[in-house]
Formats: sequence, structure tokens, C-alpha cells
Amino acid sequence: MSNAIISLQDVNKWYGQFHVLRNINLEVAPGERIVVCGPSGSGKSTMIRCINRLEEHQKGHIIVDGTELTNDLKHIETIRKDVGMVFQHFNLFPHLTVLENLTLGPMWVLKKPRAEAEATAMKYLERVRIPEQAAKFPGQLSGGQQQRVAIARSLCMNPKIMLFDEPTSALDPEMVKEVLDVMVSLAQESGMTMICVTHEMGFARKVANRVIFMDRGEIIEQNSPDEFFDNPQNDRTKLFLSQIL
Ligand code: ADP
Ligand code: MG
Repeated sequence: MSNAIISLQDVNKWYGQFHVLRNINLEVAPGERIVVCGPSGSGKSTMIRCINRLEEHQKGHIIVDGTELTNDLKHIETIRKDVGMVFQHFNLFPHLTVLENLTLGPMWVLKKPRAEAEATAMKYLERVRIPEQAAKFPGQLSGGQQQRVAIARSLCMNPKIMLFDEPTSALDPEMVKEVLDVMVSLAQESGMTMICVTHEMGFARKVANRVIFMDRGEIIEQNSPDEFFDNPQNDRTKLFLSQIL
């Protein structure tokens, strides 16, 4: 793929002796939406954390929007500007209001004036359907609302790529839908490149161009969502799907 916005080429990573990523090859086209699934411990988080250098790979190449991730801090900074990340546990600053959580990065990293940062923040809070929560602290919000703040916070940095690491798995069941709904409309309206680790099959079928299945540090299988869920090929994929469905 010559126009890939994310390219992983024979990526390998070890934690000490433990070989956590094995010869990962993945090319993501601009605007493509990928869902990553697989058993716990298979390396899903590690793989997506390597894409914005929260983890370092030891072998192979990772190229994001034309910049290769090396130890060069300039490259890491460049890539972090392009890549937003949403975590399982929200990671909001508890001592800042919702609005302050959203304006911190734009003001201090992107050097935006406060008024502009606040206007952008309110625009994205509306997009995730909680503008009325702007003055509250994260601890005063439900889990689903906090995760929507986290999504809005990433969007305020105007990333080209969004990475989601199990964004709904820490939520009570009744809050999963409100977060998935926001992610679906983001996917459908923004045309942004997205990689999302999730086992939410409905979400995958609705928005993913491709589903990738990982097991023991390898990409075992990938396909369109319908083919992947309805007609899995590999025995490990079949076993995994029989456990989550
Ligand atoms: P997943 O997201 O698919 O559940 P992870 O990428 O979190 O998997 O972890 C893959 C494997 O690497 C697991 O066996 C985990 O215990 C191990 N691991 C993750 N982070 C570290 C770390 N910082 N140090 C050592 N081992 C780790
Ligand atoms: Mg994980």
C-alpha cells in the first residue's frame, strides 16, 4: 500500500525475555477504520501503544504519516501531534474541570489562545453530547460521560488518527451504548483514520472496514467484519468468537 498513513513492517517487541509482538505487518489507509480483537494478553494494547510510542519496538519499522518512529524525539513529537488516544480508564485530570481538561493540550502544546481553545472544546463537547457538563470535575460525571470527555479531549488536538484501547470495557453496561454511539458518529462523519481495540461486534460491523484478530503476539487473521464474524477461518479465531458471542 503506497499511501498508507500507518505502516508496521515486521515489528517485533519484547518485554525482557517475553516476545510480545511477533512480525507484525499492518498497513492502514487514510480514513480506514480497523477493529482489533483477540484474547486478553495477545498484545493488542502493546501494538497500538507502539504506534504513538507509548511503548518502544525493538525490531522492524513503524511509519506514521510519513515519519518513522525512532529514538529521535522530534519524530516522536511529530507523530504524537497526529495521533490521539483514548484509554480504557479515561485518564482525565481529576483536579481540572471538564473544560480545563479539554483546553490544556491546545493551549500548552498547540499554543492556542484561551478563547479559541474554549470554543473548540465546547464544539467537541457538543459533538459528544455533554456541553452542559463543561464546568464539572471528572469525578462528578458517570463513566460514560467521562469517556466521552476523553474522546472530546483527543479531538481538540485535531489528530489525523485516533487510537482507542477498549474504550467501553470499564463501563457499566448501560453506558456502553452512549460511548459507542459517539464513536460511530465520529467514524461516519469525520472520515478520520481509526484503530479501535474492542470486542463490540455491533460496533465492528457498523463502522470497521477491517477486523484484525491477534493471538500470542501475532496477527492471525483479518477480514471484512461480516466475513470475519460469520465465516472465521482459523481455529483460534473460531475458538475466540465462540467465547465472546
Ligand atoms: P492485550 O491488550 O491484548 O490484553 P497487552 O498488550 O496488554 O495485551 O499485553 C500482552 C502481554 O504482554 C501480556 O502477557 C502482558 O502480561 C505482557 N505485558 C504487557 N505490558 C507489560 C510490561 N510493561 N512489562 C512486562 N510485560 C508486559
Ligand atoms: Mg489491552
